[in-house]
Amino acid sequence: AGLLGESAAEIEQLKVNLEDTRREAMTDALTGILNRSSFDAHIVRALQEAQKSRQHLSLLMMDIDHFKKFNDTFGHQVGDKVLALAAATLKECTKGQDIVARYGGEEFAVILPRTDLRGAAMVGETVRRRISEKELVNRSTGENMGQITISVGASNLLHGEELAEFVERADQALYLAKRTGRNRVATQDDVRADAIAADS
Ligand code: GH3
Ligand code: MG
Ligand code: MG
Repeated sequence: AGLLGESAAEIEQLKVNLEDTRREAMTDALTGILNRSSFDAHIVRALQEAQKSRQHLSLLMMDIDHFKKFNDTFGHQVGDKVLALAAATLKECTKGQDIVARYGGEEFAVILPRTDLRGAAMVGETVRRRISEKELVNRSTGENMGQITISVGASNLLHGEELAEFVERADQALYLAKRTGRNRVATQDDVRADAIAADS
């Protein structure tokens, strides 16, 4: 039993290590939420699932407003803490099947299965409000750092479209939210209305 017992324990340990490594590979170290490569894998799967079941699928893309300025004013390390806070707030505002990821530097994405555009805009609005309500205080100095805000873009999957188009519409909506004043949510419908208004 001696030798065999040991190797069984070793195999068990290797399994645990492998599982840890796998989890780390999927996680963004700074914020503890899913990283970009996990997002890429999840959205492919979510899209396939939605196309197959003909259920709604929505996407939120969000970006912290004027974050360069924040970093320049309070320092990069404080900025890192704010990124973690934003990620935690996002997790609080979502649930169950929703997938929250850090998309890039100060950008986050939320995949919302079985959610229409209205529902997605509501989630986006909740997140936007919650983040803007937080009074940021530097714990080590007691300094009041005011608030941060985010801009949000929302898209809803159209039947038969490519992933890139779905993501692009959320990006365009985010860009519109930025262009029209920041600290707001814009949807793909707002982008269309804006394009029509610009035409006429
Ligand atoms: P906008 O409202 O147009 O989004 O302005 P912005 O300043 O947020 O946008 P910009 O893309 O010019 O700058 C993004 C900044 O985000 C640059 C960098 O200082 C900050 N940033 C990106 N990743 C990190 C990070 O991991 N940690 C910290 N502290 N800051 C980051
Ligand atoms: Mg950005
Ligand atoms: Mg930004």
